Amino acid sequence: MAIAAAAMTDVGKRRPNNEDAYHIDDARGIFVVADGMGGHLAGEVASRIAVEVVRSTLEQRRNGISRRVLKEAVEAANLEIYRRSHQDRSLDHMGTTVVVAVVGNGHLLLAHVGDSRAYLLTEEGLQLLTDDHSLVFQWLKAGRISAEEARCHPQRAGLLQALGMDVEVEVDLQQVPYNGETLLLCSDGLTDMLRDEEIEEILRCQPDPAQACQALVQEANAAGGRDNITVVVARETAD
Ligand code: CA
Repeated sequence: MAIAAAAMTDVGKRRPNNEDAYHIDDARGIFVVADGMGGHLAGEVASRIAVEVVRSTLEQRRNGISRRVLKEAVEAANLEIYRRSHQDRSLDHMGTTVVVAVVGNGHLLLAHVGDSRAYLLTEEGLQLLTDDHSLVFQWLKAGRISAEEARCHPQRAGLLQALGMDVEVEVDLQQVPYNGETLLLCSDGLTDMLRDEEIEEILRCQPDPAQACQALVQEANAAGGRDNITVVVARETAD
């Protein structure tokens, strides 16, 4: 199965710098989005380390990427960010989310920490594959607040865990069947601005990944662009 993918990152309309990072490799079927946090430039450093360590760890594997390998790649990124933040005072308390998707053999292997998300657009609609590691998301799942309340909640950015905060991190791993449907990875700068129904509409109207990325970023900015916006869109191609 040949995969076509595109990505776009944008600073948005309110933030002075872009702390998001991404990596796409459609030949290997590896896709990563990270959303950094920390003072000054620390957030940018953290998200770049996450993407770089995950990328290099996965590229070293020639015999396919298992759940264990994917978990180790994210844990290695966590340790590297933790180590760097304790070496350099200017990077103190830096952290980042990460969501990684590996496509192959009719499956999608996913790993994530934090609130960057993976969605799959299927016949039934847009499916959120990942659970945000936040209290607000837990309240949403428990039915204590609505999706709309969750999207605008003042505590929505508060994460239960992120890479770089501790020596150990609990990586969420899952494997789902994949038959070439449209896959979306994104930072919360997209999902805070657009409802799932709006995201679904854009993905359906724009089958080309690059055009879908452009339209998603454009709409998130039109809705206010309160945060950095990063999107990765991948799907099967005819050739
Ligand atoms: Ca963000």
